[in-house]
Amino acid sequence: MTILRYADYEPRGAEFDADVVVVGTGAGGASTGAILAEAGLDVLFCEEGGYHPTGSFNPYMTESMSRLYRDSGTTSILGTPNIPYVEGRCVGGSTTLNGGMAYRAPDHVLDDWAATTGDPTLGTAGMERHFGMVEESIHAGPQHATSVGDDNRIMYQGAQKLGWKSAVNTRNQSHCVGTNNCILGCPTGAKQSTLVSYMPRAIRAGARCLTEVRVERLLIEGGRCVGVEGRAVNPRTRAYDRRVRVRARAVVVSAGAVHTPYLLLRHKLRSRELGRNFLCHPNAKIIAQYPFDVHAWQGVSQWSQVREFHGDGIVLAENMVPPAPLAATIPWLGREHMDILERYNQTLVTGCLVEDSTTGRVHRGPLGMPIVRYDISDWDFQRFIFGTERLAELHFAMGADRVILPYRSFHIARSMDEVRRVTPQSLKKSDLELFTVHLMGTTRMGSRPESSVVDLDGQLWELPGCYVADASVFPTAIGVNPQVTIMALGTRIGERLATRLMRCRHAAAAA
Ligand SMILES: Cc1cc2nc3c(=O)[nH]c(=O)nc-3n(C[C@H](O)[C@H](O)[C@H](O)COP(=O)(O)OP(=O)(O)OC[C@H]3O[C@@H](n4cnc5c(N)ncnc54)[C@H](O)[C@@H]3O)c2cc1C
Ligand code: SF4
Repeated sequence: MTILRYADYEPRGAEFDADVVVVGTGAGGASTGAILAEAGLDVLFCEEGGYHPTGSFNPYMTESMSRLYRDSGTTSILGTPNIPYVEGRCVGGSTTLNGGMAYRAPDHVLDDWAATTGDPTLGTAGMERHFGMVEESIHAGPQHATSVGDDNRIMYQGAQKLGWKSAVNTRNQSHCVGTNNCILGCPTGAKQSTLVSYMPRAIRAGARCLTEVRVERLLIEGGRCVGVEGRAVNPRTRAYDRRVRVRARAVVVSAGAVHTPYLLLRHKLRSRELGRNFLCHPNAKIIAQYPFDVHAWQGVSQWSQVREFHGDGIVLAENMVPPAPLAATIPWLGREHMDILERYNQTLVTGCLVEDSTTGRVHRGPLGMPIVRYDISDWDFQRFIFGTERLAELHFAMGADRVILPYRSFHIARSMDEVRRVTPQSLKKSDLELFTVHLMGTTRMGSRPESSVVDLDGQLWELPGCYVADASVFPTAIGVNPQVTIMALGTRIGERLATRLMRCRHAAAAA
C-alpha cells in the first residue's frame, strides 16, 4: 500500500526504512520528494494531516476547516498587532487550501539572493529551468474568461479608471470552472495543488506516504541525521498513541516556516539564526459594499492584482471570503452585523498585502506548541494606511456606497473624506486588523553558517544528512505569492540531493 493511515500502523510501534524521508507534503515537501523518487530513490513521506482526495471536498466551512487546517484555522502570530494566520494540515499541505495564484519571485529578489549568497544559480537566469519545470508540473497559466466574475472585473476596471498598472494572474489550474471553493479544497480537481500534481507523480515513481503521523524528533547518530521518529494520531480520539520510526540515508524537513524550525529547535542545534528571519507578507482586509449585486462567489478568486504600488512593496487584490468566515471576522454584533451580512451579494472583499520590512521569530512554546512573535514596523504601518486609502479610492471610483476599513477604532467610511481622516497619527499599530497566509524565512539559505541555517544545497550547516525544503529557506520576503518559488527551490534541493545520493549508491555498487 502506498498511502498509509493510523489503522495501518502496528499499535506497539511501526518501523520503516527508506533512502529519503520527507516530512510534509506541501509545496516544498511534495516537489522535492517527487524529484527524488523520479531519480530512482526510495522516498517515504511523513505527513501529520490526513489524506483527503478531491471527491471529499465540499463548501461546508466548519467541517472542512477542522479536517484540513491546522488547529481548525485558529492560529495566531503574537505581536503588535496580533496577526491570525492559517496553514494546511493534510496531504498537499497549504497548497490544498490555497487560492492558486502562481507567480515566480520577481527578478530583483532572485538577483538579490544571488548577490548576497554569491551563488549565480539562485538568480533569475539560474532559476529559470526550475521555474519552468514547476510551471509545467502545476499547469501555471491564464484563467479562462468564462470563470472570471464581476468582482474581479470591478477590480480590474477600477485600476484602469485610475490609471494604475494591473497584472492578470497566472494560476495553477487545468479547466478551472470558477466554483470559488479553492480555500476549502478544489472539488473538481482543477487546482493543481501538490495533492493532485506532485504527490501522484511521486507515488507513481514508487514513493510511499505515511499520513496522520506527526514527526516529533530527528534520529541523530554519530553527528549525522539518520531518520525521524513521531507518533500517529488516532483520527477519532485525537490521541497521539502509535509510535512510528523511519530510518533513512537523508531527511528532508518540509513542515512549513513555523513547524520546520519548531521541530529543529527540539534538538541541541547551536545556530543563532534558527527560528529567526520569520516573514509573513501581512495583509489587511478592506470590504466594500456596492448598491448593486457583485456576486463575488461566482467566478474564481483573485484573477488580477493591482501592481501600481509594487515598487513600494504593496499589492492590492480581490480576496473572495465565504459568508461564514466573513461573519466571524467583521467586528459588530446584532443588527449592525446583520446589516453587513444581509448585503453579502453586494460585497467585495479586497486585501492590501505589504512586503515585510521587518522580521519575527519562531520559539518553542509550552504545551508542545510553537510561538511566533512579529511586530510590524513604522513603515509597514504607514504603507497599510496608504494601501487601504488606495483600495477605498478604487471602490468609491467604481460606485461603492461604503467601505469597511481594517481599523478597530474606525470602521465604516462612506466617502474619501472620511477615509482621509485616518492618518498614522490618529491610529495605533494595535488598531490594525491584519491576517496572513504566507509564512517564510525561518531556516534561511545562505553561503555562511554565521548568517544562515542551511547551505546552498538546503543541508543544515551543523547536521549532515538533514535538509530543509520549504518556505523556511527563503533568505528574504519575495513580495508575491510564494508557492511557485517554494516548489522551484524544492526542485533544486531535490535534484542536488538525488545527485549526491545516487553518486554514493554507484560508488558503493562499484566497490
Ligand atoms: C488559505 C491560503 C491561501 C493561499 N494562497 C496562495 C496563493 O494563491 N498562491 C501562492 O503562491 N501561495 C498561497 N498560499 C501560500 C502557500 O500555499 C504556502 O506558502 C505554501 O504551501 C507553503 O509551502 P510549505 O512547503 O512551506 O508548507 P505547507 O504547504 O504548509 O506544507 C507543510 C506540511 O507539513 C506538514 N507538517 C507540519 N509539521 C509536521 C510534522 N511535525 N510532522 C509531519 N508533517 C508535518 C503539514 O501538515 C503540511 O502538510 C496560501 C496559503 C493559504 C493557507
Ligand atoms: S475556482 Fe477553480 S480551482 Fe478553485 S475550487 Fe473552483 S474549480 Fe477549483
